[in-house]
Amino acid sequence: MNTLQYLLALMLVVLFAVPAEAAKPAPQPTAERAVQVGNCSVVPLLDGSHSFSLNLFKGADEAAMLKIAGTQPIPGSFNVFLIKRGKDRFLVDTGNGTLRPDRAGQLLLRLQDVNTAPADISKIFITHLHGDHIGGLVKDGKPAFPKAKVYVAKAEYGYWTDEEAMRQAPENRRGLFPLVRDVMLVLEQHKLLVFFTPGEAVAPDIASVALFGHTPGHTGFMIASKGKKLFFIGDLLHAGALQFPRPDITVDFDVDQPQARETRLRAFKQLAKEATPIAAAHLPFPGIGIVRAEKDGYKLEALK
Ligand SMILES: [Zn+2]
Repeated sequence: MNTLQYLLALMLVVLFAVPAEAAKPAPQPTAERAVQVGNCSVVPLLDGSHSFSLNLFKGADEAAMLKIAGTQPIPGSFNVFLIKRGKDRFLVDTGNGTLRPDRAGQLLLRLQDVNTAPADISKIFITHLHGDHIGGLVKDGKPAFPKAKVYVAKAEYGYWTDEEAMRQAPENRRGLFPLVRDVMLVLEQHKLLVFFTPGEAVAPDIASVALFGHTPGHTGFMIASKGKKLFFIGDLLHAGALQFPRPDITVDFDVDQPQARETRLRAFKQLAKEATPIAAAHLPFPGIGIVRAEKDGYKLEALK
């Protein structure tokens, strides 16, 4: 092939191959989204997708919120995180299980994608006991992860098993209590439940951190390993497009609204100051980034 022929051939490749590829981008395998944090590799897994309508939020009128968020409803995900540390495999939360079959419950399939079997998981760290975080713990009446110890904050368990708390809960939230108890009962019967007090370590390199407010025992988990950090914030916020610029805005599901607001304001300030990456349950997949302070409020910057 002479130079001219070579250039023509190259042009054909560029003209035809690139547009075809551009029109059909290959889906990025989940494993390639893994984030290395010292000794730990964190793999985000998408349990499903959903969105938040603005009327769920409190602290500003709807027109003002629409102006801030720029769209309605606000897109979100159900993110679960797999932590690989040496031979150990841990999960942060478990998604919906069979609770929202129309749009979620994909965790076991996504684990399969990364060659992980349910029996490989040895510990599960639960941020709080809402259905979209614990629905995946039980399958067909049995623990879905048969060898995994499930770490639940004492205060969180105490709230959801308290008769008085159930009586005082708004009527539309009362149905959550028996659901939580059913899941806890299965774990108790199989001796898989482990209680902790936020502040305690739950594994080497991983500590629990109190983030009370969204629920009375809502807990974050911090990996700190070889000078690197990643903070699993659970439901510290729900709608990024709204609550990063206005962290004072709360969501209807926050059990203690003022406490949820204070906890978010305090945590954002600290996270932005230290540039600690976060992994969030409901931000659009993969839900990982760095909180940066802006002139007003905050924004999420993608992890490089
Ligand atoms: Zn949630």
